Amino acid sequence: MTTATKDQLDVERIRADFPILATILHAKAGTAGVPLAYLDNAATTQRPRQVVQSMVDVYEKHYANVHRGIHWLSDQSTDLFEEARGKVAAFIGSASTEQVIFTHGATESINLVARSWGDANLKSGDEILLTEMEHHANIVPWQQAAARTGAVVRFLPITDDGRLTLDKFDEYLTPRTKLVAVAAVSNVLGTINPVQEIIARAHAAGALVMVDAAQSVPHTKTDVTALDADFLAFSGHKMLGPTGVGILYGKRELLEAMPPFMGGGSMIRRVTTSGFEPAELPARFEAGTPPIVPAIGLGAAIGYLNTIGIDAIHEHELRLTRVAHEVLTAVGGVRFLGPDPEHKSGIVSFTLEKVHAHDIAQLLDRQGIAVRAGHHCAMPLHKRLGITASSRASFYFYNTTEEVERLGRALEEIKRIFRRK
Ligand code: PMP
Repeated sequence: MTTATKDQLDVERIRADFPILATILHAKAGTAGVPLAYLDNAATTQRPRQVVQSMVDVYEKHYANVHRGIHWLSDQSTDLFEEARGKVAAFIGSASTEQVIFTHGATESINLVARSWGDANLKSGDEILLTEMEHHANIVPWQQAAARTGAVVRFLPITDDGRLTLDKFDEYLTPRTKLVAVAAVSNVLGTINPVQEIIARAHAAGALVMVDAAQSVPHTKTDVTALDADFLAFSGHKMLGPTGVGILYGKRELLEAMPPFMGGGSMIRRVTTSGFEPAELPARFEAGTPPIVPAIGLGAAIGYLNTIGIDAIHEHELRLTRVAHEVLTAVGGVRFLGPDPEHKSGIVSFTLEKVHAHDIAQLLDRQGIAVRAGHHCAMPLHKRLGITASSRASFYFYNTTEEVERLGRALEEIKRIFRRK
């Protein structure tokens, strides 16, 4: 018996909006096949019909380039695109829409800051403080910025159970620290980091904070204004939206002082043969034709998430995470990466004694269960934990306790197979 007795969200009704979740895999002649259990949501989520339809509608009825034409269709598509920006701004508590920049994903958002803010503000000997649990997208751009500017990248250590050692934070936060870049939620450990406290302490020490919110915005309430975040990045495809669109939120005074990241159309006020004058926000950072339809799709995804309610989503995922810990503990030989369910998001990474993560993922796939195996773009974290790979089950509000229990049963079976070997 597990502690989760009843899903409070009407998950069956919700799942009807996601046709892909009804997929039956591995059906061969004479066999029924197995239902898909999609537990790879930290990599990317699925999208409901409403989001797909919103994009079909644009292509069929409203599509033209934005901010360009002096014609009816262009006005329509510009209105929808800017409406989507407004939905994003409201969803994350941004004081204005100009501070919400459309990029092509969280990776681009972080690179934008590392290039633009980094090159203009970092100098030899300055320090950029990351943590040992960062995704490569929040490591490599800073290593590149450090290589260009002579700054130094440092890593705040984590505890053995995958939490930040905040008691060491002040030690790592030196007068040379110019920026702290931290994931709000780790994509491997699921750890929910105390971002508010990190920002307050970094600000007190004179450093700015870049929040990698790729794994937090889709699952928990985010209020950039209450957090006092300087920069915050996330991707549309991890929150029911399409690929190819992401967001960079930034404080107005910081964004206005930053040189444009990329040059091209739209990001200029004026161009002459001897130079250019950049545009106001947000166009200043949106060179070229933006991801018009993906942005509108992201707006529709936010509309869908709002009808479910972000707090209900978080509660549901917490229940699934508790169930996952119970059933995986019962398997025996499972090492959890990261803290107990109360301190994490719906991400459960683990290793199983004597079985390689890739074998686990492959054998789970035969049962229709989709998980991720490998280093999950977090090689320094895996090294810190003394392993090279792990398996990761990650949930969203459309997952059921039944699916998590199937994961437990399938792992028991895998353990039996490997014991026999
Ligand atoms: N940061 C974290 C914590 C992530 O999990 C991811 C995606 N795995 C990214 C950044 C990068 O997101 P994207 O690949 O969508 O740019």
